[in-house]
Amino acid sequence: FIAKSGIVRDAPPSEDKECLICNEPIEPGNSVSLPCNHKFCFDCFVRHISIKFLEGKAQFGINCPQANCTAKIYPSKVREVFLITGVTDFSKGGRVIPGEVAVEQFTRLIQEDFIRSKKGSMCYCPHPTCNYVAIRKDLLRKDVRCLCGNTFCFQCGHELHVPATCEMMEDWDKLNNSQSLDDIWIEANTKPCPRCNAPIEKTKGCLRMVCRCSYIFCWDCKKDWKKTHDENRHFFCTTPENQRPSLLESMKAKDFIEYKNLYSSRLDDHKKLVAQARKQLAEIHQKIDAYKQCNKCDDMTAEFIRDCAATLVKCREFLLNSIILGFFSKTSKAKEFFDYQQKELQMSIEELSKLMELPAAQIERMEMMHISTISIQHLEKLIKHFSEDGLERLQESEQPKQLENEITIQWK
Ligand SMILES: [Zn+2]
Ligand SMILES: [Zn+2]
Ligand SMILES: [Zn+2]
Ligand SMILES: [Zn+2]
Ligand SMILES: [Zn+2]
Ligand SMILES: [Zn+2]
Repeated sequence: FIAKSGIVRDAPPSEDKECLICNEPIEPGNSVSLPCNHKFCFDCFVRHISIKFLEGKAQFGINCPQANCTAKIYPSKVREVFLITGVTDFSKGGRVIPGEVAVEQFTRLIQEDFIRSKKGSMCYCPHPTCNYVAIRKDLLRKDVRCLCGNTFCFQCGHELHVPATCEMMEDWDKLNNSQSLDDIWIEANTKPCPRCNAPIEKTKGCLRMVCRCSYIFCWDCKKDWKKTHDENRHFFCTTPENQRPSLLESMKAKDFIEYKNLYSSRLDDHKKLVAQARKQLAEIHQKIDAYKQCNKCDDMTAEFIRDCAATLVKCREFLLNSIILGFFSKTSKAKEFFDYQQKELQMSIEELSKLMELPAAQIERMEMMHISTISIQHLEKLIKHFSEDGLERLQESEQPKQLENEITIQWK
């Protein structure tokens, strides 16, 4: 899925003694040679990439200055040079863009292109220090695990989030970062006084609200308390329930907040598991060394332990993101199938996780590899199912009838 871009970094030094731009002899130590074997003086090179950058033509990568040469200059090379020199704009009287600013703008140019080309089949890894290019072979899939160790979504450029969609991630972030939950809570717990409009917060169970304007009303039906309600029964509303719209509203809001909090705490639990799995993978060489000593085997034989640790990370990440999918998905046949597959995955990685905890001497190579393979198979099945195609199927098959406890409140 990932291939290194067609540029080779450590090409043999070129033989040219003259700069291909200004034709002057190149001073040693003041030159730039590109992997395509073309060589330039440093100043000419800087001028070339600066002009391309200022023209806004850097987003597809800057070409080698030599006419007819189609080789691209590494983005990291451009950044490296800009950081030293900054960018001088001669068309604007030599205005200088400081190095760090230029690097940031250059990175953004590349990333904007990344977003624009989301329907394309190639893109740079969006991580600033990475040179890899992702090639999309399966157009239905947008999950990328770069060789640099980072993951990203082909479509939105954020960290990998399959099986949740880009839109779900955006909605979830909005829900967490914005005021919306606060608003829902405030709406559920304060009401404007029917006479003077001052916001009044509900306290405990008492329905008899006394405003500072001295108006007394019922929290549930908003009617004048003295005229319609009993002075001795502060918890009792005389209006029939189905004629109290505010009560239904606040119940819905309360339900929604509880529903959201339930998913948030599930998410927090899973985040811990992901962090654990990543830590385990980062420190896996210790376990590999211990295994090699116990079994007197070579690196190749012990490498399966790293593969298994990587499997665990991938599966844990998937399960984490599937919580967000669950939050936004309604009950349907396709959802039931997904839940079933997900449970299977969950079971096999719990087993794998247990095996990973064992001391090196007790590790059974075949058993661990077997469980890891099964986990990956479940994972692949789920990812395939949740390619765009599968997601459409899921939405189509949603039952139109409303469920008893379905949450219908809008938070946007
Ligand atoms: Zn030159
Ligand atoms: Zn060239
Ligand atoms: Zn990368
Ligand atoms: Zn995305
Ligand atoms: Zn009032
Ligand atoms: Zn009432």
